[in-house]
Amino acid sequence: MCRFLCLLLLPILLFSASIKPFKWNDGESFLTFLERKKLPLAIYYNLDKEDQKLTEDIPYNANCQMLLNDKHLIQQILIPVNDELQLQIYLTPKRKYGLKVVPIISETHSEVLYLPIQSVPYDDILNATGSKNLAATFVKMFKGKVNFKSDLKVGDPLVLVYDQKYRLGKPFSMPEIHGAMIDMGGKHFAMYRHSDGRFYDAKGGQYEKFLFKAPICSPRITSGFTKSRWHPVLHRYRAHVGVDFGARPGTPILATGEGKICFEGFSRGYGNTIKIHHSNGYISLYAHQKAFKSGIHLGSSVKQGDVIGYVGSTGLSSGPHLHFGMYIGSTPIDPLSVMKKKTEGFSGKERRVFLAIRDKLDRIFRQKLSSKPVAHKYVDFQDIYYVDSGTFKPKPF
Ligand SMILES: [Zn+2]
Repeated sequence: MCRFLCLLLLPILLFSASIKPFKWNDGESFLTFLERKKLPLAIYYNLDKEDQKLTEDIPYNANCQMLLNDKHLIQQILIPVNDELQLQIYLTPKRKYGLKVVPIISETHSEVLYLPIQSVPYDDILNATGSKNLAATFVKMFKGKVNFKSDLKVGDPLVLVYDQKYRLGKPFSMPEIHGAMIDMGGKHFAMYRHSDGRFYDAKGGQYEKFLFKAPICSPRITSGFTKSRWHPVLHRYRAHVGVDFGARPGTPILATGEGKICFEGFSRGYGNTIKIHHSNGYISLYAHQKAFKSGIHLGSSVKQGDVIGYVGSTGLSSGPHLHFGMYIGSTPIDPLSVMKKKTEGFSGKERRVFLAIRDKLDRIFRQKLSSKPVAHKYVDFQDIYYVDSGTFKPKPF
């Protein structure tokens, strides 16, 4: 992997070139994009099936970058497909275009936000950090626990402890929140992220009321969720943005939670596919179905556990299985992280782990509250661009 990286990614300083950021058009296919940019369609047709499939994963509104030389010739385009992999279209010294799937170069910063409320938490967090994801996650964490409208006053402080990834100097992907606290007139409310990735209050009670159920009876996982993995045989980067459940053809597929059917149709990669829009912005996806259950249509409401279709092998599939995906908006998340889990408070070793996490976060909260730092300011990192060039010699690591 190291050899791969140093062969491909060599940073150079750019003086005459210009960078054009742009957003991926909603619903635009990769081929249409190439046509529009007057790039050779061979870029797509020369890819193998798996990489072609990856181009279907480009989320709408993805933040892309285009590098042009002084003659406005496209030198490079970077298109993220998820928060770890991106497509890199590049011009070789022989003036031919190629495409590679490369890891996204990102930096993770651990940040602590201290903020006295000015208007409402969502607006204040967005103004301070520029991150909609952070603001929305914070509000979601305290939903049903506290009433911001009636209990919160101007000047009440909040503290957020989180990791944020930066790509090309800008925050991207979902922030990973470790804990958050809000002080309302001297009354503290805090939420802590346990090692299982879920949020709990100080007593270890779970806040997430909205939990999903397995989409199949007696589930057997044959392939897990990964945003980036190096395939040792193919020598390529691959992603699997869902969980595969092995099952006999015809096995009923169950709605993972209550919601509305927001897609029912055929896609080249996923075959017969249903998507369900749940509350809280979650979308679940059920691919490779043999058939849909009759009466299930676009716009139908379903309850948790309702049969929606039957396991099959349609689309690009090696055998009968259910590919099950879960998304927040257009961002894929690990479905298993939001599945129902039976916990009645922590005990034994798990309790000790939780208490250690809680106490560590409480120390950070206390320290920030007593030192009353200046409200966090968003730091704009210097942009770094990586350009492929076959003329440079690889630097040994
Ligand atoms: Zn799959």
